[in-house]
Amino acid sequence: IDGSGTPHPTTIDFDTSFDISARKALHIQGLVPPAIEGFSKQERRCMEQINLKSTAIDKYSYLSNLRNTNAGLFYRLLIDHMKELTPYVYTPTVGEACLKWSHIYTNPEGLYLSCSDKGNLRDVISNWPQEAVEIAVVTDGSRILGLGDLGVNGMGIPVGKLALYVGCAGIHPERTLPITIDFGTDNEEFLADDLYMGARHKRIPEAEQKEFIDEMMAALTDRWRQIVIQFEDFKSPFWSLERYRNTYTVFNDDIQGTGAVILGGLISAFKASSIPIDQHRLVFMGAGSAATGVARQICGLFERHGIPESEAKKMFWLVDSRGLVTADRGDELADHKVFFARDDNNGRQFGTLEEVVDFVQPTGLIGLCTIGGVFTESIVRKMAKFNSEPIIFPLSNPSSKSECTYAQAMEWTDNRVVFASGSPFPSIMVDGVERTPGQGNNMYVFPGIGLGTILCEAAHVTESMIYASAAGLAASLNATEKARGDLYPELPRVREVSVIVAREVIRAAQKEGVDRKKTLQFMSDAELDAYIRSKMYDPKVVELGGSRAVSREGSPKGQ
Ligand code: NAP
Ligand code: MN
Repeated sequence: IDGSGTPHPTTIDFDTSFDISARKALHIQGLVPPAIEGFSKQERRCMEQINLKSTAIDKYSYLSNLRNTNAGLFYRLLIDHMKELTPYVYTPTVGEACLKWSHIYTNPEGLYLSCSDKGNLRDVISNWPQEAVEIAVVTDGSRILGLGDLGVNGMGIPVGKLALYVGCAGIHPERTLPITIDFGTDNEEFLADDLYMGARHKRIPEAEQKEFIDEMMAALTDRWRQIVIQFEDFKSPFWSLERYRNTYTVFNDDIQGTGAVILGGLISAFKASSIPIDQHRLVFMGAGSAATGVARQICGLFERHGIPESEAKKMFWLVDSRGLVTADRGDELADHKVFFARDDNNGRQFGTLEEVVDFVQPTGLIGLCTIGGVFTESIVRKMAKFNSEPIIFPLSNPSSKSECTYAQAMEWTDNRVVFASGSPFPSIMVDGVERTPGQGNNMYVFPGIGLGTILCEAAHVTESMIYASAAGLAASLNATEKARGDLYPELPRVREVSVIVAREVIRAAQKEGVDRKKTLQFMSDAELDAYIRSKMYDPKVVELGGSRAVSREGSPKGQ
């Protein structure tokens, strides 16, 4: 009855907006209450119920149920209440949902690939009822948000992430595929939990996991030649990106999406700063997957400004749990840290962030270490002393792990800080003007990266496409946002942002020749934007007795 034509439990909508003739045609007359309603009534009823639920997890469950029973209404609601509802569709509530997944479970929601299916994945994948999948988000549950190994309970992550792809970039819901791989779990609590729904054993050895994922990649791409596969929340995310980036259409949002969204904010911050681009010195607190991903992206920016890689990487100082990352520190550095290890420290080692800040006198301080409060008053005041516009990005989530708050950063820099955080902080009034902190939310880029990659049928997701998404994000600020000195657009505009990000991603793919849909090359930017918009799923609402109703005619069929 919609999209590709195959009925699927997630899209059978018993929508109260259908008129009598539609109800007859769909054979749902009598299966829905008699009133024919406009969207405003449906919306009011939904919002009333959401507001009545007293806990976040109840709101989450209500919304999941709505998505499973009336996708059109759910997505209209999400798109129109983006800022208000995303916390109950994805972070932070999805974390709690994953912790409790095996207890609050009602619907499968996605594809479960079990390690016992190894050798047989083609058959399992062929069971997925949707014919035209364009994007899969896959996790193995090994590092869900900051919550650790949640095994098969991690399914909430690909499900929630894909809901954002639909809401923020208009990928058709029936063309999305959430996948959770069950390699077992090292979570003792789950292993002892009678209701846990995954395999009841420890994680299988890494070598077997890799063979399994090799088989999965081939099987997915066999069934859907153009499928985009996005890796999410893997404990060791680097190897898969390296292994598949030149053979399949893959990207990793934890590394590349994070890198791009922070880079997008920094491009705007650098523009606001009086310091020439090649004079920046950036200290990172944290040297994990997010920190090194972000540093790599920024390094790419410096290179694009003509700074050779060997010089560009010297503009970074990374600090981990053992202090400044140096080549001669005496421990064996994890692979992802080697590139940024300092070799100009003349044997001197730095144990604390403050020592590094004193030594480097950085122009920017970036926190991705998950230690709340490490940007102390003393450190932030030093940043304000060294710089007229100190760049301070405490990016760790949730808010309790943020390296400092917006209020602190403002107070300790006399309101001069150029600020973005990972979690939202309230606005602050300065001389009667409201100052809103930037939030480096991956939602600004991954939906557009996915959409652009799908539409130009890119063979691979290249580093330039990721870089282009950041540049697109920075370019998407409107005049009002720029005048306010914002680093990010307002969240309700995210679908417009996704169009620009997707366009820039497509242009980068074309430059590198990885696009397979060559006809898009002949479009002007305006034509390409119009084309992108025309391909975006947008559950339309119709006027009905003065109010709007959801109709299923709005979404593009067949691309
Ligand atoms: P990760 O891979 O575990 O990295 C954490 C890093 O912090 C490691 O390098 C670790 O050092 C370091 N660290 C831990 N304790 C420390 C200490 N006491 N002093 C100094 N460094 C310490 O985690 P991740 O995936 O990179 O994520 C890190 C944070 O970034 C999380 O809070 C996450 O929420 C946030 N994040 C934000 C965004 C966003 O804002 N858009 C996106 C992604 C992630 P070792 O290497 O020595 O263990
Ligand atoms: Mn993640």
